[in-house]
Amino acid sequence: MWENWSGELRCAPARTLRPSTAGEVARAVVEAREAGQVVRVAGAGHSFTPVVLTDGTLLSLDRLAGVLDVDRAGGRVRVAGGTTINALSRELDRHGLALENLGDIDVQAIAGALATSTHGTGGAKPSLPQQVEAVELVTADGSVVRAARDDADDGLFRAACVAVGALGVVTAVELRVVPAFTLRRVDRPEPLEDVLDSLDERIAAHPHFELFCFPYARDALTRTSDVVDGPPRPPGPWGQRRETWTTNTGLELLVRLGARFPSSIPLLNRLVTRLAGTSTKVDRSFRCFASPRHVRFTETEWSLPRAAAADVVRAVRAWCDERRYPVNFPFEVRFVAPDDADLGTAHGRASAYVAVHAYRGMPFEELFAAVQAIALAHGGRPHWGKRHALTARELAPLYPRWDAFQAQRAALDPEGVFTNAHVAQVLGAPGVVETRQAGAATM
Ligand SMILES: Cc1cc2nc3c(=O)[nH]c(=O)nc-3n(C[C@H](O)[C@H](O)[C@H](O)COP(=O)(O)OP(=O)(O)OC[C@H]3O[C@@H](n4cnc5c(N)ncnc54)[C@H](O)[C@@H]3O)c2cc1C
Repeated sequence: MWENWSGELRCAPARTLRPSTAGEVARAVVEAREAGQVVRVAGAGHSFTPVVLTDGTLLSLDRLAGVLDVDRAGGRVRVAGGTTINALSRELDRHGLALENLGDIDVQAIAGALATSTHGTGGAKPSLPQQVEAVELVTADGSVVRAARDDADDGLFRAACVAVGALGVVTAVELRVVPAFTLRRVDRPEPLEDVLDSLDERIAAHPHFELFCFPYARDALTRTSDVVDGPPRPPGPWGQRRETWTTNTGLELLVRLGARFPSSIPLLNRLVTRLAGTSTKVDRSFRCFASPRHVRFTETEWSLPRAAAADVVRAVRAWCDERRYPVNFPFEVRFVAPDDADLGTAHGRASAYVAVHAYRGMPFEELFAAVQAIALAHGGRPHWGKRHALTARELAPLYPRWDAFQAQRAALDPEGVFTNAHVAQVLGAPGVVETRQAGAATM
Protein backbone atom coordinates (compact mmCIF):
# COMPACT_ATOMS: atom_id res chain seq x y z
CA MET A 1 0.00 0.00 0.00
CA TRP A 2 1.40 3.41 -1.00
CA GLU A 3 0.27 6.61 0.78
CA ASN A 4 1.09 10.25 0.07
CA TRP A 5 2.53 12.73 2.63
CA SER A 6 -0.81 14.24 3.59
CA GLY A 7 -2.28 10.75 4.15
CA GLU A 8 -5.28 11.53 1.89
CA LEU A 9 -4.31 9.35 -1.10
CA ARG A 10 -3.57 5.63 -1.19
CA CYS A 11 -3.10 2.90 -3.77
CA ALA A 12 -2.34 -0.81 -3.83
CA PRO A 13 -0.10 -1.44 -6.86
CA ALA A 14 0.12 -4.93 -8.36
CA ARG A 15 3.94 -4.53 -8.31
CA THR A 16 6.19 -2.09 -6.50
CA LEU A 17 9.76 -2.04 -7.76
CA ARG A 18 12.91 -0.21 -6.71
CA PRO A 19 15.19 -0.23 -9.76
CA SER A 20 18.74 0.97 -9.28
CA THR A 21 19.77 1.47 -12.92
CA ALA A 22 18.16 2.93 -16.04
CA GLY A 23 18.33 -0.60 -17.51
CA GLU A 24 16.24 -1.99 -14.65
CA VAL A 25 13.75 0.85 -15.13
CA ALA A 26 13.50 0.00 -18.84
CA ARG A 27 12.90 -3.69 -18.06
CA ALA A 28 10.17 -2.81 -15.53
CA VAL A 29 8.43 -0.52 -18.03
CA VAL A 30 8.48 -3.10 -20.83
CA GLU A 31 7.19 -5.85 -18.51
CA ALA A 32 4.39 -3.60 -17.27
CA ARG A 33 3.40 -2.63 -20.80
CA GLU A 34 3.28 -6.29 -21.85
CA ALA A 35 1.09 -7.01 -18.80
CA GLY A 36 -1.22 -4.10 -19.68
CA GLN A 37 -0.32 -2.23 -16.48
CA VAL A 38 -0.07 1.51 -15.92
CA VAL A 39 3.37 2.60 -14.70
CA ARG A 40 3.71 5.46 -12.25
CA VAL A 41 6.72 6.66 -10.30
CA ALA A 42 6.55 7.74 -6.67
CA GLY A 43 8.90 10.50 -5.66
CA ALA A 44 8.61 11.58 -2.03
CA GLY A 45 4.79 11.52 -2.22
CA HIS A 46 4.46 15.25 -1.50
CA SER A 47 1.76 15.94 -4.11
CA PHE A 48 -1.83 16.55 -3.07
CA THR A 49 -3.28 15.36 -6.38
CA PRO A 50 -3.59 11.63 -7.24
CA VAL A 51 -0.70 11.87 -9.72
CA VAL A 52 1.17 8.88 -8.35
CA LEU A 53 -1.68 6.38 -7.93
CA THR A 54 -1.74 3.13 -9.88
CA ASP A 55 -2.99 -0.41 -9.42
CA GLY A 56 -0.35 -1.51 -11.94
CA THR A 57 3.40 -0.99 -11.52
CA LEU A 58 4.71 1.58 -9.07
CA LEU A 59 8.38 2.48 -9.28
CA SER A 60 10.35 4.08 -6.50
CA LEU A 61 13.69 5.52 -7.58
CA ASP A 62 15.12 5.81 -4.07
CA ARG A 63 17.90 3.41 -5.14
CA LEU A 64 18.51 5.38 -8.34
CA ALA A 65 19.78 8.38 -6.42
CA GLY A 66 22.94 10.41 -6.02
CA VAL A 67 25.02 13.07 -7.70
CA LEU A 68 26.55 11.59 -10.86
CA ASP A 69 28.78 14.39 -12.08
CA VAL A 70 29.77 17.88 -10.94
CA ASP A 71 31.19 20.35 -13.45
CA ARG A 72 32.23 23.16 -11.14
CA ALA A 73 33.76 25.37 -13.83
CA GLY A 74 30.82 24.93 -16.19
CA GLY A 75 28.24 25.37 -13.42
CA ARG A 76 26.49 22.07 -14.17
CA VAL A 77 25.53 19.03 -12.15
CA ARG A 78 24.10 15.69 -13.32
CA VAL A 79 22.01 13.90 -10.77
CA ALA A 80 20.03 10.63 -10.67
CA GLY A 81 16.23 11.06 -10.83
CA GLY A 82 15.53 9.72 -7.34
CA THR A 83 17.93 12.08 -5.55
CA THR A 84 16.26 14.26 -2.95
CA ILE A 85 16.74 18.00 -3.29
CA ASN A 86 18.15 18.04 0.22
CA ALA A 87 20.82 15.43 -0.61
CA LEU A 88 21.65 17.34 -3.80
CA SER A 89 21.93 20.68 -1.97
CA ARG A 90 24.24 19.22 0.69
CA GLU A 91 26.48 17.61 -1.91
CA LEU A 92 26.57 20.82 -3.97
CA ASP A 93 27.53 22.77 -0.84
CA ARG A 94 30.52 20.47 -0.38
CA HIS A 95 31.60 21.53 -3.88
CA GLY A 96 30.98 25.24 -3.13
CA LEU A 97 27.86 25.24 -5.32
CA ALA A 98 24.10 25.68 -4.91
CA LEU A 99 20.80 25.72 -6.78
CA GLU A 100 19.80 29.30 -7.48
CA ASN A 101 16.27 29.01 -6.10
CA LEU A 102 14.31 26.39 -4.17
CA GLY A 103 10.86 25.76 -2.75
CA ASP A 104 10.07 25.81 0.96
CA ILE A 105 10.79 22.10 1.52
CA ASP A 106 13.61 20.02 0.08
CA VAL A 107 12.57 16.44 0.73
CA GLN A 108 11.14 15.92 -2.78
CA ALA A 109 12.88 13.71 -5.34
CA ILE A 110 14.36 15.98 -8.00
CA ALA A 111 12.34 14.27 -10.78
CA GLY A 112 9.16 14.39 -8.67
CA ALA A 113 9.59 18.12 -8.03
CA LEU A 114 10.20 18.79 -11.72
CA ALA A 115 7.19 16.76 -12.83
CA THR A 116 4.81 19.23 -11.17
CA SER A 117 6.74 22.46 -11.90
CA THR A 118 7.90 23.07 -8.35
CA HIS A 119 8.95 26.64 -7.60
CA GLY A 120 10.31 28.85 -4.84
CA THR A 121 10.15 32.62 -4.70
CA GLY A 122 12.11 35.47 -6.28
CA GLY A 123 10.81 37.91 -8.88
CA ALA A 124 13.84 37.49 -11.16
CA LYS A 125 14.63 33.96 -10.04
CA PRO A 126 13.89 30.74 -11.95
CA SER A 127 11.49 28.01 -10.91
CA LEU A 128 13.02 24.52 -10.70
CA PRO A 129 12.25 23.53 -14.34
CA GLN A 130 13.95 26.69 -15.55
CA GLN A 131 17.19 25.56 -13.83
CA VAL A 132 17.25 22.31 -15.86
CA GLU A 133 19.65 21.84 -18.78
CA ALA A 134 18.90 18.21 -19.76
CA VAL A 135 16.62 15.33 -18.85
CA GLU A 136 17.18 11.59 -19.40
CA LEU A 137 14.12 9.40 -19.49
CA VAL A 138 13.01 5.83 -20.11
CA THR A 139 10.06 5.89 -22.47
CA ALA A 140 7.16 3.46 -22.96
CA ASP A 141 9.07 1.18 -25.36
CA GLY A 142 11.98 0.88 -22.92
CA SER A 143 14.37 3.20 -24.75
CA VAL A 144 16.50 5.71 -22.88
CA VAL A 145 16.44 9.19 -24.42
CA ARG A 146 18.23 12.42 -23.50
CA ALA A 147 16.70 15.82 -24.22
CA ALA A 148 18.71 19.00 -23.71
CA ARG A 149 18.01 22.72 -23.67
CA ASP A 150 20.64 23.22 -26.40
CA ASP A 151 19.27 20.51 -28.74
CA ALA A 152 18.73 21.91 -32.25
CA ASP A 153 15.13 20.73 -31.86
CA ASP A 154 14.32 21.41 -28.21
CA GLY A 155 10.70 20.18 -28.46
CA LEU A 156 11.25 17.07 -26.37
CA PHE A 157 13.26 18.99 -23.77
CA ARG A 158 10.54 21.59 -23.30
CA ALA A 159 7.94 18.87 -22.93
CA ALA A 160 10.01 16.65 -20.62
CA CYS A 161 10.92 19.35 -18.07
CA VAL A 162 7.40 19.38 -16.62
CA ALA A 163 5.52 16.26 -17.71
CA VAL A 164 3.41 15.13 -14.71
CA GLY A 165 5.11 11.75 -15.22
CA ALA A 166 3.29 11.28 -18.55
CA LEU A 167 6.26 11.01 -20.93
CA GLY A 168 8.34 8.38 -19.16
CA VAL A 169 10.53 7.72 -16.14
CA VAL A 170 13.12 10.43 -15.53
CA THR A 171 16.32 8.63 -14.60
CA ALA A 172 18.70 11.62 -14.55
CA VAL A 173 18.60 15.41 -14.68
CA GLU A 174 21.26 18.00 -15.48
CA LEU A 175 20.89 21.30 -13.67
CA ARG A 176 22.53 24.69 -13.85
CA VAL A 177 24.16 25.60 -10.54
CA VAL A 178 25.69 28.76 -9.07
CA PRO A 179 28.48 29.37 -6.55
CA ALA A 180 27.29 28.64 -3.00
CA PHE A 181 25.78 31.71 -1.36
CA THR A 182 24.62 32.88 2.02
CA LEU A 183 21.24 34.51 2.63
CA ARG A 184 20.08 36.89 5.29
CA ARG A 185 16.42 35.98 5.78
CA VAL A 186 14.22 38.38 7.73
CA ASP A 187 10.67 37.51 8.83
CA ARG A 188 8.51 40.32 10.17
CA PRO A 189 4.85 41.32 10.58
CA GLU A 190 3.69 44.28 8.46
CA PRO A 191 0.28 45.74 7.56
CA LEU A 192 -1.11 43.55 4.76
CA GLU A 193 -2.57 46.40 2.68
CA ASP A 194 0.79 48.24 2.70
CA VAL A 195 2.48 45.06 1.55
CA LEU A 196 -0.07 44.41 -1.23
CA ASP A 197 0.24 48.02 -2.39
CA SER A 198 4.03 47.75 -2.69
CA LEU A 199 4.55 44.27 -4.12
CA ASP A 200 6.46 45.47 -7.21
CA GLU A 201 8.90 47.52 -5.15
CA ARG A 202 9.51 44.67 -2.72
CA ILE A 203 10.00 42.11 -5.49
CA ALA A 204 12.48 44.45 -7.18
CA ALA A 205 14.33 45.28 -3.95
CA HIS A 206 15.00 41.71 -2.79
CA PRO A 207 16.09 38.62 -4.73
CA HIS A 208 13.62 36.56 -2.71
CA PHE A 209 10.41 37.95 -1.27
CA GLU A 210 7.19 36.29 -0.13
CA LEU A 211 4.34 36.88 2.25
CA PHE A 212 1.99 34.90 4.42
CA CYS A 213 -1.39 36.20 5.49
CA PHE A 214 -4.50 34.99 7.28
CA PRO A 215 -8.04 35.87 6.22
CA TYR A 216 -8.89 37.64 9.46
CA ALA A 217 -5.68 39.45 10.42
CA ARG A 218 -4.73 43.01 9.47
CA ASP A 219 -1.02 42.17 9.36
CA ALA A 220 0.87 39.91 6.98
CA LEU A 221 4.10 38.11 7.78
CA THR A 222 6.72 39.01 5.19
CA ARG A 223 9.90 37.10 4.41
CA THR A 224 12.75 38.80 2.55
CA SER A 225 16.02 37.06 1.74
CA ASP A 226 19.09 38.95 0.56
CA VAL A 227 22.49 37.62 -0.45
CA VAL A 228 25.22 38.60 2.02
CA ASP A 229 28.99 38.25 2.04
CA GLY A 230 30.68 36.40 4.79
CA PRO A 231 30.23 33.01 6.33
CA PRO A 232 26.87 31.50 7.23
CA ARG A 233 25.86 31.71 10.88
CA PRO A 234 23.67 28.61 11.24
CA PRO A 235 21.51 28.65 14.35
CA GLY A 236 22.82 26.69 17.33
CA PRO A 237 20.79 23.89 18.90
CA TRP A 238 18.61 26.40 20.78
CA GLY A 239 17.99 28.48 17.62
CA GLN A 240 17.14 25.35 15.65
CA ARG A 241 14.70 24.25 18.35
CA ARG A 242 13.10 27.69 18.32
CA GLU A 243 12.68 27.59 14.52
CA THR A 244 11.18 24.09 14.59
CA TRP A 245 8.88 25.14 17.41
CA THR A 246 7.58 28.19 15.56
CA THR A 247 7.09 26.53 12.17
CA ASN A 248 5.79 23.20 13.48
CA THR A 249 4.88 22.81 17.16
CA GLY A 250 3.49 26.34 17.56
CA LEU A 251 1.62 26.12 14.28
CA GLU A 252 0.20 22.68 15.17
CA LEU A 253 -1.07 24.01 18.51
CA LEU A 254 -2.64 26.99 16.80
CA VAL A 255 -4.38 25.01 14.07
CA ARG A 256 -5.59 22.35 16.51
CA LEU A 257 -7.10 25.03 18.70
CA GLY A 258 -8.82 26.52 15.67
CA ALA A 259 -10.06 23.11 14.53
CA ARG A 260 -11.51 22.44 18.01
CA PHE A 261 -13.06 25.92 18.36
CA PRO A 262 -13.70 27.25 14.82
CA SER A 263 -15.37 30.42 16.13
CA SER A 264 -12.03 31.41 17.71
CA ILE A 265 -10.21 31.37 14.35
CA PRO A 266 -10.50 35.11 13.56
CA LEU A 267 -9.10 35.88 17.02
CA LEU A 268 -6.30 33.31 16.61
CA ASN A 269 -5.45 34.78 13.18
CA ARG A 270 -5.00 38.19 14.75
CA LEU A 271 -3.16 36.85 17.78
CA VAL A 272 -0.55 34.99 15.79
CA THR A 273 0.38 37.99 13.65
CA ARG A 274 0.42 40.24 16.72
CA LEU A 275 2.71 37.88 18.63
CA ALA A 276 5.04 37.25 15.68
CA GLY A 277 8.15 39.33 16.13
CA THR A 278 10.99 39.98 13.72
CA SER A 279 13.41 37.12 13.31
CA THR A 280 16.60 36.88 11.27
CA LYS A 281 18.52 33.91 9.96
CA VAL A 282 21.89 34.07 8.18
CA ASP A 283 22.73 30.74 6.64
CA ARG A 284 23.56 28.85 3.46
CA SER A 285 20.85 29.40 0.85
CA PHE A 286 19.37 25.89 0.93
CA ARG A 287 18.93 26.03 4.72
CA CYS A 288 17.14 29.39 4.41
CA PHE A 289 14.86 28.36 1.54
CA ALA A 290 13.59 25.08 3.00
CA SER A 291 12.52 23.90 6.42
CA PRO A 292 10.96 20.71 7.81
CA ARG A 293 7.15 20.55 7.72
CA HIS A 294 5.49 18.28 10.26
CA VAL A 295 1.96 19.78 10.36
CA ARG A 296 -0.19 17.86 7.86
CA PHE A 297 -2.47 19.87 5.59
CA THR A 298 -3.97 19.85 2.13
CA GLU A 299 -3.48 22.65 -0.40
CA THR A 300 -4.46 24.38 -3.60
CA GLU A 301 -2.05 26.75 -5.34
CA TRP A 302 -2.47 28.90 -8.43
CA SER A 303 0.04 30.56 -10.69
CA LEU A 304 -1.13 34.01 -11.82
CA PRO A 305 0.07 36.88 -13.95
CA ARG A 306 2.08 38.85 -11.40
CA ALA A 307 -0.12 41.93 -11.51
CA ALA A 308 -3.12 39.86 -10.34
CA ALA A 309 -1.60 38.74 -7.03
CA ALA A 310 -2.96 41.51 -4.79
CA ASP A 311 -6.48 41.32 -6.26
CA VAL A 312 -6.61 37.56 -5.83
CA VAL A 313 -5.46 37.76 -2.19
CA ARG A 314 -8.06 40.45 -1.47
CA ALA A 315 -10.82 38.47 -3.22
CA VAL A 316 -10.05 35.24 -1.34
CA ARG A 317 -9.97 37.11 1.99
CA ALA A 318 -13.27 38.79 1.20
CA TRP A 319 -14.84 35.43 0.27
CA CYS A 320 -13.72 33.94 3.63
CA ASP A 321 -14.84 37.01 5.55
CA GLU A 322 -18.35 37.04 4.05
CA ARG A 323 -18.91 33.44 5.18
CA ARG A 324 -16.72 33.45 8.31
CA TYR A 325 -15.11 30.38 6.69
CA PRO A 326 -12.80 28.67 9.22
CA VAL A 327 -9.28 29.11 7.79
CA ASN A 328 -6.55 28.77 10.39
CA PHE A 329 -3.61 28.21 8.04
CA PRO A 330 -1.87 31.17 6.38
CA PHE A 331 -2.12 31.86 2.63
CA GLU A 332 1.31 31.96 0.97
CA VAL A 333 2.14 34.38 -1.85
CA ARG A 334 5.29 33.96 -3.95
CA PHE A 335 6.81 35.22 -7.20
CA VAL A 336 9.04 33.77 -9.93
CA ALA A 337 10.48 34.70 -13.33
CA PRO A 338 8.92 33.26 -16.51
CA ASP A 339 9.83 29.71 -17.55
CA ASP A 340 9.79 28.09 -20.97
CA ALA A 341 8.72 24.50 -20.21
CA ASP A 342 5.58 23.58 -22.19
CA LEU A 343 3.64 22.85 -19.00
CA GLY A 344 5.64 25.11 -16.67
CA THR A 345 3.15 26.91 -14.47
CA ALA A 346 5.14 30.13 -15.00
CA HIS A 347 5.30 29.51 -18.76
CA GLY A 348 5.89 32.74 -20.64
CA ARG A 349 4.96 35.15 -17.90
CA ALA A 350 6.36 36.73 -14.74
CA SER A 351 4.26 34.92 -12.17
CA ALA A 352 2.82 35.13 -8.71
CA TYR A 353 1.59 32.08 -6.81
CA VAL A 354 -1.20 32.17 -4.26
CA ALA A 355 -1.47 29.05 -2.09
CA VAL A 356 -4.34 28.26 0.26
CA HIS A 357 -4.04 25.45 2.81
CA ALA A 358 -6.41 23.56 5.08
CA TYR A 359 -5.36 21.68 8.21
CA ARG A 360 -6.28 18.00 7.96
CA GLY A 361 -9.85 17.38 9.02
CA MET A 362 -10.90 21.00 8.40
CA PRO A 363 -13.41 21.74 5.61
CA PHE A 364 -11.79 22.90 2.39
CA GLU A 365 -13.91 21.88 -0.63
CA GLU A 366 -16.01 25.05 -0.80
CA LEU A 367 -13.00 27.27 -0.12
CA PHE A 368 -10.78 25.59 -2.73
CA ALA A 369 -13.61 25.78 -5.30
CA ALA A 370 -13.92 29.52 -4.58
CA VAL A 371 -10.13 29.99 -4.88
CA GLN A 372 -10.23 28.12 -8.19
CA ALA A 373 -13.00 30.37 -9.54
CA ILE A 374 -11.19 33.53 -8.39
CA ALA A 375 -7.86 32.38 -9.79
CA LEU A 376 -9.38 31.35 -13.14
CA ALA A 377 -11.01 34.76 -13.45
CA HIS A 378 -7.50 36.25 -13.13
CA GLY A 379 -5.75 33.94 -15.64
CA GLY A 380 -4.71 31.33 -13.06
CA ARG A 381 -3.08 27.99 -13.76
CA PRO A 382 -3.20 25.31 -11.05
CA HIS A 383 -0.04 23.80 -9.55
CA TRP A 384 0.21 20.28 -11.04
CA GLY A 385 0.80 18.76 -7.59
CA LYS A 386 -1.90 20.62 -5.65
CA ARG A 387 -5.66 20.28 -5.51
CA HIS A 388 -7.84 21.59 -8.33
CA ALA A 389 -10.78 20.27 -10.33
CA LEU A 390 -9.80 21.22 -13.89
CA THR A 391 -9.80 18.80 -16.81
CA ALA A 392 -7.63 18.71 -19.93
CA ARG A 393 -10.35 20.60 -21.78
CA GLU A 394 -10.08 23.54 -19.36
CA LEU A 395 -6.31 23.33 -18.96
CA ALA A 396 -5.49 23.29 -22.69
CA PRO A 397 -6.24 26.98 -23.34
CA LEU A 398 -4.07 28.01 -20.35
CA TYR A 399 -0.87 26.75 -21.97
CA PRO A 400 0.36 28.26 -25.28
CA ARG A 401 2.48 25.15 -26.01
CA TRP A 402 -0.15 22.59 -24.96
CA ASP A 403 -0.36 21.06 -28.45
CA ALA A 404 3.44 20.77 -28.71
CA PHE A 405 3.46 18.86 -25.41
CA GLN A 406 0.66 16.57 -26.58
CA ALA A 407 2.50 15.82 -29.83
CA GLN A 408 5.52 14.61 -27.83
CA ARG A 409 3.25 12.58 -25.57
CA ALA A 410 1.44 10.94 -28.49
CA ALA A 411 4.79 10.03 -30.09
CA LEU A 412 6.41 8.66 -26.93
CA ASP A 413 3.48 6.94 -25.23
CA PRO A 414 0.66 6.31 -27.74
CA GLU A 415 -0.85 3.52 -25.60
CA GLY A 416 -0.88 5.52 -22.36
CA VAL A 417 1.46 3.28 -20.36
CA PHE A 418 2.09 6.29 -18.08
CA THR A 419 -1.53 7.50 -17.98
CA ASN A 420 -3.39 6.88 -14.72
CA ALA A 421 -6.89 8.24 -14.04
CA HIS A 422 -5.58 11.62 -12.83
CA VAL A 423 -3.28 12.06 -15.82
CA ALA A 424 -6.22 11.20 -18.09
CA GLN A 425 -8.23 13.91 -16.31
CA VAL A 426 -5.63 16.66 -16.60
CA LEU A 427 -3.86 15.76 -19.85
CA GLY A 428 -6.49 13.67 -21.62
CA ALA A 429 -6.83 9.92 -22.17
CA PRO A 430 -4.50 8.41 -24.78
CA GLY A 431 -5.99 9.03 -28.20
CA VAL A 432 -8.54 11.53 -26.81
CA VAL A 433 -6.25 14.48 -26.52
CA GLU A 434 -7.71 17.94 -26.13
CA THR A 435 -6.15 20.56 -28.36
CA ARG A 436 -5.94 24.22 -27.41
CA GLN A 437 -8.53 25.02 -30.03
CA ALA A 438 -11.06 22.44 -28.80
CA GLY A 439 -10.50 23.49 -25.20
CA ALA A 440 -10.82 27.17 -26.01
CA ALA A 441 -14.13 26.55 -27.74
CA THR A 442 -15.62 25.14 -24.55
CA MET A 443 -14.54 27.91 -22.18
C1 LIG B 1 4.81 20.39 2.85
C2 LIG B 1 4.88 20.65 1.36
C3 LIG B 1 5.53 21.76 0.90
C4 LIG B 1 5.60 22.02 -0.48
N1 LIG B 1 6.27 23.14 -0.91
C5 LIG B 1 6.29 23.43 -2.23
C6 LIG B 1 6.93 24.60 -2.73
O1 LIG B 1 7.55 25.35 -1.98
N2 LIG B 1 6.84 24.88 -4.05
C7 LIG B 1 6.16 24.06 -4.92
O2 LIG B 1 6.10 24.36 -6.11
N3 LIG B 1 5.58 22.93 -4.50
C8 LIG B 1 5.64 22.59 -3.18
N4 LIG B 1 5.07 21.43 -2.76
C9 LIG B 1 4.56 20.49 -3.77
C10 LIG B 1 5.68 19.52 -4.20
O3 LIG B 1 6.89 20.19 -4.48
C11 LIG B 1 5.25 18.79 -5.47
O4 LIG B 1 4.02 18.19 -5.32
C12 LIG B 1 6.31 17.77 -5.92
O5 LIG B 1 5.91 17.20 -7.14
C13 LIG B 1 6.51 16.66 -4.90
O6 LIG B 1 7.67 15.95 -5.22
P1 LIG B 1 7.75 14.41 -4.85
O7 LIG B 1 9.15 13.94 -5.03
O8 LIG B 1 7.13 14.18 -3.55
O9 LIG B 1 6.88 13.80 -6.03
P2 LIG B 1 5.53 12.93 -5.96
O10 LIG B 1 4.48 13.72 -5.30
O11 LIG B 1 5.86 11.60 -5.39
O12 LIG B 1 5.24 12.79 -7.50
C14 LIG B 1 4.88 13.91 -8.24
C15 LIG B 1 4.82 13.55 -9.71
O13 LIG B 1 6.14 13.26 -10.18
C16 LIG B 1 6.14 12.00 -10.85
N5 LIG B 1 7.47 11.45 -10.71
C17 LIG B 1 8.18 11.28 -9.58
N6 LIG B 1 9.40 10.79 -9.89
C18 LIG B 1 9.43 10.65 -11.23
C19 LIG B 1 10.42 10.19 -12.15
N7 LIG B 1 11.61 9.76 -11.76
N8 LIG B 1 10.11 10.17 -13.46
C20 LIG B 1 8.90 10.61 -13.90
N9 LIG B 1 7.94 11.05 -13.08
C21 LIG B 1 8.21 11.08 -11.75
C22 LIG B 1 5.05 11.21 -10.13
O14 LIG B 1 4.62 10.13 -10.87
C23 LIG B 1 4.00 12.28 -10.01
O15 LIG B 1 3.35 12.45 -11.22
C24 LIG B 1 4.99 21.13 -1.40
C25 LIG B 1 4.32 19.99 -0.93
C26 LIG B 1 4.27 19.75 0.44
C27 LIG B 1 3.55 18.53 0.94
